[in-house]
Formats: sequence, C-alpha cells, structure tokens
Amino acid sequence: MPFKQRVFSGVQPTGNLHLGNYLGAIVKFVALQETYDCIYCVVDLHAITVWQDPSELPKATREVTAAFLASGIDPKRHIVFNQSQVAEHAELAWVFNCIARLGWLNRMTQFKEKAGKDRENASVGLYAYPTLMAADILTYRATHVPVGEDQKQHLELSRDIAQKFNNDFARSIQAHGYGDAFFPQPEPLIQGPATRVMSLRDGTKKMSKSDASDQSRINLTDDADTIAHKIRRAKTDPDPLPHEEKGLERRPEADNLIGIYAAHAEMSKAEALQKFGGAQFSTFKAALIELMVAKLAPINAEMRRLIADPVYIDSVLADGAARAQVIAADTMKAVKDIIGFVRR
Ligand code: ATP
Ligand code: MG
Repeated sequence: MPFKQRVFSGVQPTGNLHLGNYLGAIVKFVALQETYDCIYCVVDLHAITVWQDPSELPKATREVTAAFLASGIDPKRHIVFNQSQVAEHAELAWVFNCIARLGWLNRMTQFKEKAGKDRENASVGLYAYPTLMAADILTYRATHVPVGEDQKQHLELSRDIAQKFNNDFARSIQAHGYGDAFFPQPEPLIQGPATRVMSLRDGTKKMSKSDASDQSRINLTDDADTIAHKIRRAKTDPDPLPHEEKGLERRPEADNLIGIYAAHAEMSKAEALQKFGGAQFSTFKAALIELMVAKLAPINAEMRRLIADPVYIDSVLADGAARAQVIAADTMKAVKDIIGFVRR
C-alpha cells in the first residue's frame, strides 16, 4: 500500500538559532512546501534532554517559531506547532523504546558527543533521544525528513524502528487491515552545499548552538554589523581560492565559506568557485557579507516583529497543535489496536 507523501521535521528550542539550522534545515522546509504537505515542529521535549531554564524555554520556543514564519513557512497551508502540545509523540516514543534495541542506541554518535566524558550523569532522555525522534516522524507516518548531515544516523535508526515494528507485528497489521506495513520508511533529505555548516573559528567543528564562542556562529538574530564583523574575523588560510572543488580538500575553512556562499546564492560550490577561483579571501569575504546581509536582514527584521507579538505566535502553535493531534490520534489508535491494548 503506498503511503501518503508527507514531510516532517523539527528544530529544538535550545537558544542561539544559527546559520547551520537555517541553511541545513529551515531553507529546505520552505522549499518543500510547494510539493508536499508539511509538518514543522518546535521540539521542546527534545530540548529538555539537557537542562533548560523554565524562564527561557518559552522564549526559545517562540523564537524558533518566529524563525519558521519569518523564513516563509506558511502555518495555514501546513502545520507548525510545539511538540509538548501533542502528547502522542511521547506515547509512541514509549512503544518505540520497547522496539529499539540497546545495541542500536549504543552506536549513536550524538549521544557520545553530547554526554561527553561524564556519561553516567547524562539524562536517560538524552540516551533515548533517537526513539523520540522516530516517534515524531512516524506519528504522522511521514515519508520525507529534511535534516542536516548530523541527523543522518538518527534517521537510519528511525527506519530500523519502523521496519522492526512492521516485522514484529506483521500478522496483526494484516489482521487490522493495514496491509504489509503500517509505518513507512522515512527518507532523509540531505542535499545541497550547506548540509553541514562548520564553525567560523574551526572548520573541522560543526556550527552549534552550544559553542561557548559566539564568534563561531552567525545567529539568526545577528544584525548586519555583527554578521560583517564575524565573517571578516572568520578563520581562513593564506592561499587564494581554488578554481575547482577538488582544491577545497584539506581546506575546511575555505570549503565552509564557499558552501555558505553557494547556499545563499542558490548555486553549487563548483559554480561559486567559477566566480571566485583565484580571488583573495578579502575580496570573497566582502561579496559574502553583502550577499548574507541581503538575504538575512529581512528575516531578522521579521523575526523581531513576530517575537514582539507572543500572543500571535502562541495562537499559531495552538492551531497547529490541534491539527497535528487529529493525525497523531488516528495513528495512536491504530498502533494500540495493532499491539493489542484494550481501548475505549
Ligand atoms: P543542539 O546543539 O542543541 O543539538 P543544533 O544546532 O544541532 O542544536 P537542532 O535543533 O538539534 O540544532 O537541529 C535542527 C536542525 O538543524 C537539524 O535538522 C540539524 O541537522 C540541523 N543542523 C544543526 N546544526 C547544523 C549545521 N551546523 N549545519 C547544517 N545543519 C545543521
Ligand atoms: Mg542538534
């Protein structure tokens, strides 16, 4: 049975939304609206896998929502909401905790990186993060998931969970009239020149919300002067830019800045190098700053306008949550029947 094509993705309200989130995820979210029904979620249940200050969390949730809307996501044609308003995510995550194997979760590199050396002290939620992510996607039986490169492994785990559920309950799925498979195999959408935007201070590290240095990232709330300042100070090497992509090998900072330029200009890295091959970084950075400011300033201004109106933002989230829940409740009823839970 073919599954209805649907896009799902999420961003955590953990502060400091940055260029990586924008180019790696949000820009893709916007583009996919033309071809799919889309559900975009502010994943606050994921955020609390590490400590969040209760006085900051609502602000961060509204800021991510504002970034979605300011970037061009249409909350009327599609669905925008925050995860904790639809309890089915947590409910399905429990089922998936009983499907996923410890061995699978033990391989997840994000947990290893985030837990660091003090693993004994990490929350159980941080460890189980990928099963909640599988539940987010599969609550809507979504078929396509736009994410940055760093989430590829979690997407593979979601596919494994969907497959094991379909196999374990194959007879019950058939008996309840759902054919060969209840959950689709969600496909990651990871394409283009900026699937992994790197730190401006170190081209081998992912640009991240949690980096102690604010100079390492462009925040979506940065104004034009701050963007210019950070790009001018961004680490480079002494050589001029190469003419071909092969010349970016072993030059992570050059590779990163060319990728950022290409993504903003909606071209490939090769095309960006046709333009800037042989140029000094000073020339290229001036062009990069001009392009980034032109693209990001209107989003920045619209985000500020929206953040000043929390009542409106909250109404968008409430409306989205109500519509999401209709779909989620249908899935959960079916899952309960398939598993054999007695229900009202
Ligand atoms: P955290 O450090 O709290 O995990 P994060 O910056 O990774 O924060 P998330 O909310 O976890 O942000 O991720 C939201 C989306 O942004 C995901 O699709 C993720 O793959 C993407 N993303 C995050 N960082 C980058 C990056 N540096 N380059 C490209 N995409 C990124
Ligand atoms: Mg992340």
